[in-house]
Amino acid sequence: MVLLRFAPSPTGALHLGGLRTALYNHLYAKKLGGKWILRIEDTDATRYVPGAVDGIRGALAWAGLAYDHGPGSDGPHGPYFQSERLDLYHSYTRKLLDSGHAYRCFCSPDKLTTTREKLARTGSNATYDKACLHLTEEEVARRVRAGEKSIVRLNDDNLPARTTPSDIVFGSLKDAHASLPTDPVLLKSDLFPTYHLASVVDDHEMGITHVLRGEEWLPSLPLHLDLYSCLSLIPPQFAHLPILLNPDGSKMSKRKGDVQVLDFMRRGWEPDAVLNWLALSGWGVHHDRAQQPSPSSDTSHSTPNQAPDSTRLMTLSELIDQFELTSLTHRRNVLDPAKLEFLNKHHLMRSWQTEEGITAHAERLHDLIKAAFPTSRHTTVEYIAQVIRALQGRIINLLDVPRLAPFFFVDPDYTTEEAQSMIKSISPSDYRTTLDAVAARLESHSGGLQSHDIGTMLHDEASKLDVKQKHFMTALRHALTGMKTGPSIPEITEVLGLERAMARLSRSKE
Ligand code: GLU
Repeated sequence: MVLLRFAPSPTGALHLGGLRTALYNHLYAKKLGGKWILRIEDTDATRYVPGAVDGIRGALAWAGLAYDHGPGSDGPHGPYFQSERLDLYHSYTRKLLDSGHAYRCFCSPDKLTTTREKLARTGSNATYDKACLHLTEEEVARRVRAGEKSIVRLNDDNLPARTTPSDIVFGSLKDAHASLPTDPVLLKSDLFPTYHLASVVDDHEMGITHVLRGEEWLPSLPLHLDLYSCLSLIPPQFAHLPILLNPDGSKMSKRKGDVQVLDFMRRGWEPDAVLNWLALSGWGVHHDRAQQPSPSSDTSHSTPNQAPDSTRLMTLSELIDQFELTSLTHRRNVLDPAKLEFLNKHHLMRSWQTEEGITAHAERLHDLIKAAFPTSRHTTVEYIAQVIRALQGRIINLLDVPRLAPFFFVDPDYTTEEAQSMIKSISPSDYRTTLDAVAARLESHSGGLQSHDIGTMLHDEASKLDVKQKHFMTALRHALTGMKTGPSIPEITEVLGLERAMARLSRSKE
């Protein structure tokens, strides 16, 4: 059985890049009927941010990515916080010291800096002069006994034969060892392991079969493979996921904002759409066909090895079905916000194919609508559901509803520039004639108030009046909404109901 892990450090909020890593771990584990672990890599106390673990767990829960084992969901591989696994790292350190693959270094941080600078001045690539490698066993024992602080380094002069590292996404990595520091640190003076040692020990101890992680860790792969061979362990398979870029080619970073999952949660994006967006941005999509949107829930055309279009609408379970590790490429992954909008809109529309879907979203909007329109008497969940029905196809993000159609909740604002420009495009007499005629028809209307009936009635009325069709519609849209765009007039009238629609049409008499 495959076993994967998502291993964030609790150094802040979860980013889109982290969510993408968690997602790919989830997809691959579930595709192969395996499991994944959430492992918290908290070995750097100086970078620990309180609350970060809860934030990460909250973001994963929002996205619907449920880990099999991890904090709050125990299992055979715990503990899941690295800070609770120190004994394990110490025992592996002992093995490496005993086999001569590692040694203790007593150099102070200041001395190390001076050494590094000196080496750089002489044009050397080395980052440490290995001074402590030559201490005698007795000397080391004496200094340890005396309580002197030390770190443990890998001895890169005494490593088993190396082979060219290989990665599922990036292929074989020639000269990969050249950029490693000299004798990398494995255990720090506070007795906490470095990321490298902890990662290798845990991946082995937990029985991880595949490591899927961000490209930023690719340079560490040769070191990790060295550690596996020093410990005579079989490494897992590695797949590094390409860095995420903004559409302008710049790297997505904290400084540019909007990279935290929390931002996407707060801005009302649908988790399914965000996952769809993240998944397909890196999924071996060679041809950008976003310009020819063909949103469809029909995914039957994709064969497993063929990467789906980056705007194909897919749910999490469809993503699992079609995910292939071999279809990932090391191409840069561009995250285009326009594609998220497209996907979000269509995920919403798909969920509104059922009444339950509409009600669930109406419930989600309830508080927001009440807060946006505190004086409105039209804010029940049932009414919001009607508004959603009328607006579907126009809503990109659920949170757009108050801005898109305030007229459903409160009287139109006729003082806006938009409303003023509408009225200027029609003559006052056409305006009055239209409103009076339609109001009279509505008043005497005895049929149902379904948009279909209203549509027929309006059509009939328009043909009788000596008012241009365009002006007829603009006059009604102005009176009913004060806005240039929105659902059709019959749909708006149906949602507003006869009484409110009549009240708005009679404004011409004011
Ligand atoms: N703790 C690392 C991070 O937060 C994870 C590296 C890994 O997955 O091995 O990026």
